[in-house]
Amino acid sequence: MNQASHHVVVVGAGFGGLEFTRALAGAPVRITMIDKRNHHLFQPLLYQVATTALATSEIAWPVRHLLRKRKDVTTLLANVVGVDRAGKRVLLDDGSSVAYDTLVLATGARHAYFGHDEWEPFAPGLKTLEDATTVRRRILLAFEQAELEADPVKRQALLTIAIVGGGPTGVELAGTIVELAHDTLHGEFRNIDTRETRVVLIEAGDRILANFAPKLSDYAGKALERLGVTVELGRAVTLCDAEGVVFGDKHLAAKT
Ligand SMILES: Cc1cc2nc3c(=O)[nH]c(=O)nc-3n(C[C@H](O)[C@H](O)[C@H](O)COP(=O)(O)OP(=O)(O)OC[C@H]3O[C@@H](n4cnc5c(N)ncnc54)[C@H](O)[C@@H]3O)c2cc1C
Repeated sequence: MNQASHHVVVVGAGFGGLEFTRALAGAPVRITMIDKRNHHLFQPLLYQVATTALATSEIAWPVRHLLRKRKDVTTLLANVVGVDRAGKRVLLDDGSSVAYDTLVLATGARHAYFGHDEWEPFAPGLKTLEDATTVRRRILLAFEQAELEADPVKRQALLTIAIVGGGPTGVELAGTIVELAHDTLHGEFRNIDTRETRVVLIEAGDRILANFAPKLSDYAGKALERLGVTVELGRAVTLCDAEGVVFGDKHLAAKT
């Protein structure tokens, strides 16, 4: 039992919360780590779960297990809904609270839709394991529905996947979805040719990977086109619904 009197509460066992806790090893404090999920998630590989390359268990580890050797750390599975700064307590959703001397909030970020929250049902985010398995399920079910679809126009819409946003996640997803369709699934269906799948990456700016050097954007764009991805630049998506997306004056029929 750790007898240190100074109590540090860390909310969030992502990279931030875990690294902070690691850095406090040996300090004269006792730590309570609170996370609303029982696992730490390696978000950079979510796209691999979304595209069937990895299983969920390969990118998530129980927080309790990760911290098992740290006798100074107590791990709690709980949802923090508020902070009472005057009373120095974090408030949990079951109505209880945890007292702290020092509080570290490392709760991460959420995805956003640039003011278009109505798009969420058609285009889930990619921040949690549930998001990744939702994306995976939708992609795989689109192929299954295309296999059953007799109408060639509807079939093509089922075999068209639109990705909005040419940042690192959009680029990684585009590359792996096209590999899944053109290589991994090729030969497993009888009524469709999965190599006819269209993956369209739509970026409002004038290049993908805008945070990288222009020559790397250019290289990535050419590599994606070689793989079979269509890269659309310079037009923002203005509508996204169950039938597809609109960017500029173009409507792209895409069920995923
Ligand atoms: C798809 C994707 C790909 C990425 N690729 C890369 C990459 O290649 N390289 C790179 O450097 N970065 C990458 N990132 C970014 C990187 O993953 C984040 O910067 C990093 O995870 C942020 O760490 P964090 O600790 O701030 O938050 P998070 O890792 O999000 O952790 C926050 C934690 O807080 C918990 N939490 C939230 N709210 C509450 C609450 N109310 N109560 C209790 N617990 C709560 C959550 O359950 C979570 O465990 C990627 C991110 C995504 C989504």
